[in-house]
Amino acid sequence: IAWNNTVLRNGQNNIIGTMSIGEDITERFAMDRMKGEFISVVSHELRTPLTAIHGGIKLLAKGLVPVGSEQGKQLLQLAAEHSQRLVRLVNDILELERLESGTSWLKKQPLNTQTLTGQVIDLFQLTAKQAGINLKVFDPGFEIMADGDRIHQVLTNLMDNAIKFSPADSTIWLTVESGESAPGGDKNTVLFTVRDQGRGIPPEKCAKIFERFIQVDSSDSREKGGTGLGLTICQNIVEQHGGFIGVKSTLGKGSCFYFTLPIN
Ligand code: ADP
Repeated sequence: IAWNNTVLRNGQNNIIGTMSIGEDITERFAMDRMKGEFISVVSHELRTPLTAIHGGIKLLAKGLVPVGSEQGKQLLQLAAEHSQRLVRLVNDILELERLESGTSWLKKQPLNTQTLTGQVIDLFQLTAKQAGINLKVFDPGFEIMADGDRIHQVLTNLMDNAIKFSPADSTIWLTVESGESAPGGDKNTVLFTVRDQGRGIPPEKCAKIFERFIQVDSSDSREKGGTGLGLTICQNIVEQHGGFIGVKSTLGKGSCFYFTLPIN
């Protein structure tokens, strides 16, 4: 509470009391703190790749490392990877900003879930094969009203994570079924699940994993190329559709990300 105190005086200028007005600033306080945290994380996330790019290019520009040499090529490759990471980060931040400010409207249309899951499986077939991972899909085909591009984006992000955190010779299942089997779901919803046999997520992180920039391991963004914003974007899209998203995971055994969508 922010207090505003005023001394009350009588006609002879003697103090006769005080008047205090308290303003509830809980929300403003939380917003300011969130803004501060957001800026510090973003600037850290931006600084790391920028330092690498700047350092590498300076060595090349000053001729300290010849451009055509093996080391020169490595520096250029590194700079290219880091700049790609920057582009991804900025795109994700802008995307989240658009979603949260409500300026990007959902374009709900009738669609069949099989069309979506088919497209997503096609998209990942090659990457999964290269990583030695089996993809399995079970989708009897539900007619729903949803923004196809947005749900495609959610599934893509969940599948991308599942592949990133799965070992070779493991399986990833993408399934769609009636929402009746979901915790708190009903027959007017459909339930999408992406289940993997990867490294899993520790229980204390499961609840937090949908928050911005939260990663299980701080080296994840460097080694796996993520931004820590993907699941926040997924949550936003699912909730805008009136559904909910969650995860069940066992460390070392695998994770199961699920979300529901209303049929209409
Ligand atoms: P990122 O772009 O880093 O993948 P996400 O928000 O999509 O961002 O995921 C946040 C973090 O959650 C990941 O960095 C990883 O630590 C963890 N995570 C997400 N999906 C999985 C999964 N299937 N298995 C294990 N960990 C996962």
